[in-house]
Amino acid sequence: VNDTVYWCELALVGDTVCQRVAIRARGGRFVAIDVAVDQPVDSTRLAGLTIPGMANAHSHAFHRALRGRTQVGSGSFWTWRDVMYRAAERLDPDNYYRLARATFAEMALAGVTVVGEFHYLHHQPDGGAYDDPNAMGEALLAAASEAGIRITLLDTLYLHGGLGGGGYAEPAGVQRRYSDGSAENWVERVEALGPASTHSIGAAIHSVRAVDPDSMRVVSDWASGRGAVLHAHVSEQTVENDQCVAHHGITPTGLLERSGVLSPEFSAVHATHLNSADIAMYATAGSTVCMCPTTERDLGDGIGPTAALTEAGVAMSLGTDSHAVIDMFEEARAVELDERLVSNRRGVHSAAELMSMATLNGHRSLGWDDAGSIAVGNRADAVTIALDSVRTAGTAQASALEAVVFAATATDITHVVVDGVVVVEDGRHLRMDVAQELETSITELMGP
Ligand SMILES: [Zn+2]
Repeated sequence: VNDTVYWCELALVGDTVCQRVAIRARGGRFVAIDVAVDQPVDSTRLAGLTIPGMANAHSHAFHRALRGRTQVGSGSFWTWRDVMYRAAERLDPDNYYRLARATFAEMALAGVTVVGEFHYLHHQPDGGAYDDPNAMGEALLAAASEAGIRITLLDTLYLHGGLGGGGYAEPAGVQRRYSDGSAENWVERVEALGPASTHSIGAAIHSVRAVDPDSMRVVSDWASGRGAVLHAHVSEQTVENDQCVAHHGITPTGLLERSGVLSPEFSAVHATHLNSADIAMYATAGSTVCMCPTTERDLGDGIGPTAALTEAGVAMSLGTDSHAVIDMFEEARAVELDERLVSNRRGVHSAAELMSMATLNGHRSLGWDDAGSIAVGNRADAVTIALDSVRTAGTAQASALEAVVFAATATDITHVVVDGVVVVEDGRHLRMDVAQELETSITELMGP
């Protein structure tokens, strides 16, 4: 077996930026990390800063087709959702595969080595199953594989059209595509999806609006029985909190906790509107919170309590969610910059902490415990960022991580390795023309 050796000008090893780092990979794993060494013969030199692979812990691939289109006019989360539903109506396994492949390839260019795809578009437009009931999920697995990144398919239970004065509503319109009819049917369908070395199957509860407590328990029991991760949208909107309190007499987090959903394998997505009791429940359970700041600001959701979560010891991960932009540096710095606007303080979250959210914490949230840091034995994922672009030139070595987190963009990424395989070289995806694939697949779906 041949080793691949990279020699990094600078590399993030643990929480420290080290100089002249030789990284040796074999069979998709790191087998040696040597700091402060001369360039080994037959090694590839990586200029700039090399960091671990980044995890995009919350994605809905098809939302990529909405970029720009949803920025026309005014409205709210709920009017945005109407436009999103219109795109959801048009998807089938073939056009979904092409759109997702291009979107995941855009993520690869942005240094994402694993995506958590929160997937609820399961069935035909009238709600009937495809011949292969997992045709849509399998399209996503194939798309990630073609794009060169790993995926955790967070197969999502969605049963109800909403939670209002009359309790849970029947799914209506495009929502019929989302529903399996019962949690037991969901289990039966998901059981047919098997894990592999480059994908894993996780579970998701869409939200307290779409899943009742008894059905939550079924999903939670399935996930804990399989050792699978479990995600849910939680408290993105105050309306959801109000409806949940009115109907169940408890917050969405409280309802999840009471239904046995919280655990170290659970991730609450958004968690924008939490009270202190909610935060304490996540801390006690050892659950993770996935922040999606560029989506939350795009939709006018609000700013999540990241300082309070950190203070309580709750780990956070990051997701690009609606793909208003796909740039993990933008997500990472938004966590800190939004907090500055709220608290009038600087440096609540350090660059190293923000980078951990984008790397280690995200991998943990998606169930990849052997990835997310440059360490011997881990999966050989690495992302190199140029320090000589117009955004990063003049960076001091002592603050290279700060420069990347607070000023770099996805465009500054030159080299991406996933499981030891080079996917991006000199800023180009080696398997496809990503811009062209996006253009073709989105125009096909949405029209010119
Ligand atoms: Zn989402």
